[in-house]
Amino acid sequence: MPHSFLPELTQFLETSPCCFHAINNIKNILSGKQFIQLHENQKWTLRPGCGYFVTRSDASLIAFTIPTAGFHSMRIIASHSDSPAFKVKENPELETDGHYIRLNVERYGGMLCAPWLDRPLSVAGRIIIKDRQGSLCSRLVNIDRDLLLIPNLAIHMNREANNGYKYNAQKDMLPLYGSLTAKGTFMQMIAEAAGVEKDEILGHDLFLYNRQKASIWGASEEFISCGRLDDLQCAFASLKGFLGGKKTSHLAVYCILDSEEVGSTTKQGAASTFLYDTLTRIHSSLGYTREDYLIHLADSFMLSADNAHAVHPNHPDKADPSNRPYLNGGIVLKFNANQKYCTDGISAAMFRDLCNTAGVPVQTFANRSDMAGGSTLGNISNTQVALNTVDIGLPQLAMHSPYETAGVEDTGYLIRAAQAFYC
Ligand code: ZN
Repeated sequence: MPHSFLPELTQFLETSPCCFHAINNIKNILSGKQFIQLHENQKWTLRPGCGYFVTRSDASLIAFTIPTAGFHSMRIIASHSDSPAFKVKENPELETDGHYIRLNVERYGGMLCAPWLDRPLSVAGRIIIKDRQGSLCSRLVNIDRDLLLIPNLAIHMNREANNGYKYNAQKDMLPLYGSLTAKGTFMQMIAEAAGVEKDEILGHDLFLYNRQKASIWGASEEFISCGRLDDLQCAFASLKGFLGGKKTSHLAVYCILDSEEVGSTTKQGAASTFLYDTLTRIHSSLGYTREDYLIHLADSFMLSADNAHAVHPNHPDKADPSNRPYLNGGIVLKFNANQKYCTDGISAAMFRDLCNTAGVPVQTFANRSDMAGGSTLGNISNTQVALNTVDIGLPQLAMHSPYETAGVEDTGYLIRAAQAFYC
C-alpha cells in the first residue's frame, strides 16, 4: 500500500533528531508555502488571507492562517516537539581509568533506558553565540555520524541482567565518546560542526539521539518504526492537514510545543502564555476587541494530538478490557475520569462528528482502572486558553523508547481528519 506521505514522514523524522531541528524543519516547510515569519519582539501587521508563524525559544512554533472574510471562531491542533533523551551536561567529558573519555549526561523526560544501550548514538541540538552585531543567536548542530555508544555490562558480570535491572542514570547511562586521545575535543567538535570557534560558544542545549533510520516493515509494510514518533508523527500529520485544509471558515492554528516530556512549565511549553499571547495578538492586530476574543474562544475547538498506547501483542492484559486501540485501527480518542486527558462528552462528540464526516475511523483509549497511565498537554494548555478540547493520538508501541513503533495507515487518518478540521 504505497502512501505518498511516507517518504516525507521518514525524512522529517530522520532530520529532526531533537526539538530544535523539528521546529527548523517545520519553519522551512511553512516558508516554502509562503507563510510569513513573525517575531515576538516586533510589531505584527497582519492581513486577512495570509499565513504566518512565530517561534519561541527555537523549540515551539505556532502557525496560523487568517480567513479572507474574517472569522468568528478558532480551530487549533497542538502536538509536542520534544522527546525523552539524554541531555549533555556542562563540562561533559569524564576521563575513566586513564583510558576512556565518556560524556556526562542526564535524563530529559521519562525514557525506557534499556533500548538506548549497545546502539550507535550521536549528538544534536543548538549552541548560543554572539553575532557580529553583538546579539545572542542560536545555531543548530548535528554531528551527523555514529559518535557515541552506551555499552551494556556483559551477562558474565551481571548474572541478574535478565531478571529485571534498575538503571542508574549516573552510572549505567553515560556514553563512551573515545579513547584518551579524545580528551578535550568534544566541544571543539561541536564548534566545528556549527562553523564557529569553541570559545564563541556561550551556551548549549545538546541531546543524544539514536542513529537508526526509520523503517517501514511488517508482512504488508504496515508498520513504521523510528525514534521520536511520540510526538513528531502527530506534529507531521497535523501539519499536512493544516497545509491541505481550506482554512476559510475559522482562524486555523497549528501548534507544536516544547517541554511536554518535562511537565510543560517552561516559557515555551503548553503551560506558558505562548498560545494565549499569540491568539490575543492576532485579535488585537486585526482590530478585534477582548470581548471578540472571548466570544470566538467560546465557539472554538482544540485537538490535543499526542500519541497513544496501542494494545501490546505480548502484553494484551496491560490494556483496558473494553477500550483497546490497535495499530492501523484509526485515531485514538483518550479518556480519563480524573482529567489527565481533557476529553469530555461534548468534545468526544465533536471529534467523532468530525471523523464521521471525514470518513476516518476512531478508537478509544482509557487506562485500566488499576493503572495510573500518563498525561499530556491538553489540560495544561487549557489553564491558559480554556476552550472545548479533545485529547487524541495515534496508536503506538514502546512509547519513550528511542525506537518506537506505529501504524502507517494511522498517519494518513490524522492527515485526513486534520484537513477536514481546518475547513
Ligand atoms: Zn507525547
